[in-house]
Amino acid sequence: MTLDEFVKAVSALDTHASALVSAATTPAELESARNALLGRKNGDLSALMKSLPSLPADDRREAGAAVNRVKTTIEELLANRAGSLVPVAPSGPRIDLTMPARENWKGGRHPVTVVIEEIESIFRELGFTIALGPEAETEWYNFTSLNFPENHPAMDMHDTLYLSDEVLLRTHTSPVQIRTMQTTKPPIRILAPGNVYRRDFFDASHAPMFSQIEGLAVDEGIGFVDLKATLTHFANRFFGGTKTRFRPSYFPFTEPSAEMDVECQICHGSGCSSCKNTGWMEILGSGMVHPNVLIAAGLDAERYTGWAFGMGPARIAMLRYKLPDIRLLYDSDMRFLAQVSS
Ligand SMILES: [Zn+2]
Repeated sequence: MTLDEFVKAVSALDTHASALVSAATTPAELESARNALLGRKNGDLSALMKSLPSLPADDRREAGAAVNRVKTTIEELLANRAGSLVPVAPSGPRIDLTMPARENWKGGRHPVTVVIEEIESIFRELGFTIALGPEAETEWYNFTSLNFPENHPAMDMHDTLYLSDEVLLRTHTSPVQIRTMQTTKPPIRILAPGNVYRRDFFDASHAPMFSQIEGLAVDEGIGFVDLKATLTHFANRFFGGTKTRFRPSYFPFTEPSAEMDVECQICHGSGCSSCKNTGWMEILGSGMVHPNVLIAAGLDAERYTGWAFGMGPARIAMLRYKLPDIRLLYDSDMRFLAQVSS
């Protein structure tokens, strides 16, 4: 190659570079133009430099200077072009900066959970501890040990969900009372929260699975007055001061038995449709533990007495939040939960 041919090649590269750089319209295109022109391995400039040794020795200095000039020119072209290119947003959804910020949703406890935890904390202060038991129970724990007469209607297939001939889904948390008395020496003070199952229709006031809380106290020399004082204290704490009354009732596992009413939380006693104009609402069942139950659990019924109670947290949540339909508590409707959860 002669010097003349070399200088022509340098000039051609200058023209080519100018066209290539101005044709680039994005930073990516400009980067590939830079590689084509200045790339170390296959770039146009390095190809030109490789031909330098083929020139006569005297011409190499001038040729080298020409190569350096065009290199500087190309670098300037690239830098100028880079400054004039507007960066393009990365592909994907465009960002709308005028859009309002997303609301930060805060989780909350379900109203039934809130009620259960509050009941637990009131009874914990009174020395009660929490006891749990299995949801699949034997007929003996669920009925027989609790003094249900044979062929009691509650044992019917229509009311109880049987898993086999002997095993069923517990219809109340009372089996936990038996299991506790079997393993714990009195004095006993327990609270047993948990899920229970009935073959109920799912309507405004019934659900096939619901939570229940039961309490049990067993000791020497305790009586109905302890039951009444404790449950009255509980109602006053929970509802913030309320009238209470006890009405005689019947349960197979307690004798005598009583239901406790609190003043209607909606009309405060004057009568409304929620309390069927009585001014009262039932919140729990209770009674002195039947001696047969103590004996079934292996305790000395001559020495010990006990009292027990049971209530439905969902029903109490309905009273507290003035709900017309129990299904609101199972629907997971955010519009409702956002109003009552905490
Ligand atoms: Zn009322």
